[in-house]
Amino acid sequence: MQEHTDSVAGDAAGGGHGIGRREFIGGIAGGMAAGGGFLGGLGSASAAQATEKGVYHEKMRTPIVGRYEVIVCGGGPSGFIAALAAARSGANTLLIERYGFLGGNAVAGLMTCYNGFRNQRAPEALQTVKGIPAEYIAEIVRLGGLADQDQYAKEFPHNATTGDLPYTVGFDPEAAKIACLNMIAKDGVRLRLHSWVVAPMLDGSRLTGVIVESKSGRQAIAADIVIDATGDGDVAAGAGAPFMLPDRKGDPGKGDRLQMTLMYRLGGLPAAVRGPFGGIRIGDRVVRWGPYMDGDGLDADDLTRVEVETRLRLWDQIQQMRRKPGMESIYLMQTATGVGVRETRRIIGEHIVREKDAVAGKRFADVIAISSNPIPRYHGRRYFFEHEGFDIPYGALVPRKVDGLLLTGRCISCEQAAFQSSRAMAPTMAVGHASGCAAALAVKGKITPRRVKVKDLQKLLLSQNAELRR
Ligand SMILES: Cc1cc2nc3c(=O)[nH]c(=O)nc-3n(C[C@H](O)[C@H](O)[C@H](O)COP(=O)(O)OP(=O)(O)OC[C@H]3O[C@@H](n4cnc5c(N)ncnc54)[C@H](O)[C@@H]3O)c2cc1C
Repeated sequence: MQEHTDSVAGDAAGGGHGIGRREFIGGIAGGMAAGGGFLGGLGSASAAQATEKGVYHEKMRTPIVGRYEVIVCGGGPSGFIAALAAARSGANTLLIERYGFLGGNAVAGLMTCYNGFRNQRAPEALQTVKGIPAEYIAEIVRLGGLADQDQYAKEFPHNATTGDLPYTVGFDPEAAKIACLNMIAKDGVRLRLHSWVVAPMLDGSRLTGVIVESKSGRQAIAADIVIDATGDGDVAAGAGAPFMLPDRKGDPGKGDRLQMTLMYRLGGLPAAVRGPFGGIRIGDRVVRWGPYMDGDGLDADDLTRVEVETRLRLWDQIQQMRRKPGMESIYLMQTATGVGVRETRRIIGEHIVREKDAVAGKRFADVIAISSNPIPRYHGRRYFFEHEGFDIPYGALVPRKVDGLLLTGRCISCEQAAFQSSRAMAPTMAVGHASGCAAALAVKGKITPRRVKVKDLQKLLLSQNAELRR
């Protein structure tokens, strides 16, 4: 059981989750209080312990250390863009991220190509993702962070330096991290790194903020509107929103859950040899796809198994490559921070984007973003749309049963085939743009996201150069 109080650091014993003795916790608080965190204050949690059939009951008093109009949980491509959009639209916004940098799977997972700015095959005349995501790419270009051109760029020439974005944009992950920081500083987004969002603050079915855990302890941060950009829908699921899980490999007649992959960067490439090193290349380095494995991205034991196995396999693969004549100089320069998880929860929203609508390219009056990215594993093959892209309606961002919450990124409300398209990073950024604007409108109108007028949202998005085909 948890209790959210307005107590300040010091009025209760400080300390962290899982520490059972009050006196011991108090000792930690006394020693660390001066340091504080980015937001100030130290977590205070008092825990009462009782053991009952393998269950440990915690009773906690959690200090509220900040209050914002909008909190975005997760600094990946969708969350970072959502935070920019909310701040730019007038909301006092905090962005919370568990790692020490922004960028999400694009940089933590070393997935260094933003796919889905337009259809990968003809017809590809329409750039379906523009607005703040395109400004972000311009910032990467300004920092000199574009990867070398790939084969696709030769077939369909576009010019990222002028905002005419191709289907995919390869980039340097270090430049991307800096581009994120530059942009949030410019738009006045407050940042809290090294903090896990571990639970929602709830008043009935309405979110009133989030609980974070970090080196500062366990803390509550209040908000009018929370945006779940964790990729896995952690906040929405924790608040009781219903969700779908991926079909598991081998379920008859169902789509397979996409596998996890450990991405890596190879260095020391011999200049003359390009062909065998397919991947995203910048100068003498290339980012490549490492071992693939099936697993459950919501299960820490399974994640551990996949993490260990992919790392061991990758090391062996690199040693084998080095034994080939002319390849002696290559070396494993970097692996992703963690194995890349493609598919977990999809939260059920007011609208579910259906497979048939994605394939048909159905248009909706309440469109807030478009996905034109192919479906990578549609009945066993990469499926390219014969249309310019399908509409994502606003209802796909509004979870059922929970108020004060918006969804963005790969956890929005979609059937599996539609998800496999809209999870690409360009459409997730477009969805982030919409969720940030919607949150700001909800704050301004003192209403829940469910009551935001889609026409107002579309008007705001169009004023920020989003593409809605309207
Ligand atoms: C191996 C692999 C290859 C892929 N290939 C491509 C590709 O080539 N091109 C492409 O466009 N897309 C690709 N994708 C898909 C794409 O990377 C993801 O779908 C996309 O990054 C989802 O964006 P997001 O913002 O929803 O989530 P993420 O990018 O996962 O960002 C979520 C952020 O939230 C943080 N976070 C998570 N939980 C918490 C928490 N509880 N508290 C605080 N912070 C939290 C994470 O650290 C992360 O920064 C690939 C994915 C994988 C795994």
